[in-house]
Amino acid sequence: MSALAETLTRRAQSVRRPSAWHLLVKNRLAAAGLCLIVIIAALAVVVPALPLADPQVTAPVNRLKPILTTGHPLGTDQLGRDMLSRLLWGARISLAVGLAATLVAAALGSTIGIVAGYAGGRTDNLLMRGIDMLMAFPYILLALAIVAALGPGLVHALYAIAVVNIPFFARNVRGVTLGYAKREFVDAARLSGKGPFAIVVTEILPNVLPVIVITMSTTAGWMILETAGLSFLGLGAQPPQADLGSMLGEGRAQLFTAPHVAIVPGAMIFLIVISLNLLGDGIRDVLDPRLRSGALARPGPVTDVAGGRIAPPNTQKYATLSIEALEIGFRSGRDVVPAVRGVSLHINPGECLGLIGESGSGKSVTALSIMGLVTSPPGFIRNGAIYLKDEDVLGMPETRLIASRGKRVAFVFQDPLTTLHPMYPIGRQVEEAIAAHQPSGARHRREKAIALLDKVGIRDARERAKHYPHQLSGGQRQRVGIAMALANEPEIIIADEPTTALDVTVQARILKLLRDLQRERGMALLFITHDFGVVSQMCDRVAVMKDGEIVETGVTRNVLTNPRHAYTRRLIACVPELGTGDRFLERVAGLFQSGKEQA
Ligand code: ADP
Ligand code: MG
Repeated sequence: MSALAETLTRRAQSVRRPSAWHLLVKNRLAAAGLCLIVIIAALAVVVPALPLADPQVTAPVNRLKPILTTGHPLGTDQLGRDMLSRLLWGARISLAVGLAATLVAAALGSTIGIVAGYAGGRTDNLLMRGIDMLMAFPYILLALAIVAALGPGLVHALYAIAVVNIPFFARNVRGVTLGYAKREFVDAARLSGKGPFAIVVTEILPNVLPVIVITMSTTAGWMILETAGLSFLGLGAQPPQADLGSMLGEGRAQLFTAPHVAIVPGAMIFLIVISLNLLGDGIRDVLDPRLRSGALARPGPVTDVAGGRIAPPNTQKYATLSIEALEIGFRSGRDVVPAVRGVSLHINPGECLGLIGESGSGKSVTALSIMGLVTSPPGFIRNGAIYLKDEDVLGMPETRLIASRGKRVAFVFQDPLTTLHPMYPIGRQVEEAIAAHQPSGARHRREKAIALLDKVGIRDARERAKHYPHQLSGGQRQRVGIAMALANEPEIIIADEPTTALDVTVQARILKLLRDLQRERGMALLFITHDFGVVSQMCDRVAVMKDGEIVETGVTRNVLTNPRHAYTRRLIACVPELGTGDRFLERVAGLFQSGKEQA
């Protein structure tokens, strides 16, 4: 294998996300819980093969021997039975019953939850009202009532515990299923002709499974405790069979004369439950999708800047924004993957600079770094400098940098549906943008928000301000995004592919709006796109970015008529012309091929 190939494989390996198992073992408490429960479970499994006394043979002469008596390491109980043997046999029964109850509750509860969540309507109503009825009783009371009806005994205790725990599973699983049942991939499966059963099994279940496992792991300890509780009350295991709960119940009478008879099973219950709970919490942390991607690391409020950074002098003192030799990398394990490599650019007041390049060339990372918005970890600024007018942004105190976001530099993002809050009316969201930087009365704020919405071309702005993002079209949502960016009259607006999510006619209108607003207010505009057609309409100058570097920059007209870099020529050739569809595809293929040669 060549050295390069070797480096690449090594990098690929180090880039790979840590496995769930790895994350679980790294969590020390969960690992301790796992070790403990594995040891206890292993002992419980092999107990028939161990050279132990029969747990049920009584020997009245040996009554209540203390701990560490020869032949009885944990002493004997009131009937002279060996405590160690009884403890392990009892743990075996408690674990078996508790885990069986967990499985039964999980199977029944999850089935009810999935069916209710997927079917919706009357089925959902019927099933969930049934669950509500179960939940209306205090559940220990309900368990007691069930055992009272069925008669005491271990199996009946198991049923009772399983039944009272069904609602936890049903409710959790229904909630998650409800979210997935309306998703596009489920619609796609339906359109492909799959029946409801197949959809539930192949589309919904894999997504819901983590929730079921999390609920199981967090309730298993609880259920073992409840089983022990019923046995303690004499409703579970019946003599001579004993589980930990009934041992504890029998030991109660000797609590003062021979406390070990109660303490030994009590300690075992404690160990089992605590180890299961620690393990359960660990499993939840690993499987919970919200915690998984960040591996429990929360990004900082501002992008990290490498310690040894030397700020290059500001060569464009009169520019609104200038970036000098900026380098940004992403840490992955011990490696650093470079995303931006020595980018320098500047934007003058009232100017529109187009930053163009194919997807993955580092445009968004460059744009986000300007206000310290690249997530760290893993991202960090390795070198270079960013200046707003003559102020070094990377040297700014954190509070000043955060206060500049939205005030001096505003962003318009690609997909307004993901950047607008789904639960608030759009007017309120524009008001929030204003309130972040301009203290003023609510009434004044509202009027200003409506004026802004009107300005960006939302008709009937006063009424529209009360609407929610989902009630607007894509173009209107992007107009709201622009209104929010304008709210504090920033010096520069950074628009990151603001029209990529829109269709062509809406795109043209949004572009015109941005262009007009920028001219009218004399703002600077950093316009990011992958489309030279858009650049030619919008931008005074253009910088072409490829693999994290700027390969060419100049006045748009000059670059368009006389591109010097081969990559620029290919990007320009990619702008489709009417009636040249097949040639267009050839050019795109050419672009792709050149990318492969480079890699
Ligand atoms: P684009 O030009 O399409 O906007 P980006 O700036 O988003 O491209 O990405 C540039 C490079 O940085 C890509 O190769 C991407 O893999 C990498 N990158 C972006 N964000 C992250 C991240 N959070 N972790 C690791 N790598 C990232
Ligand atoms: Mg991008």
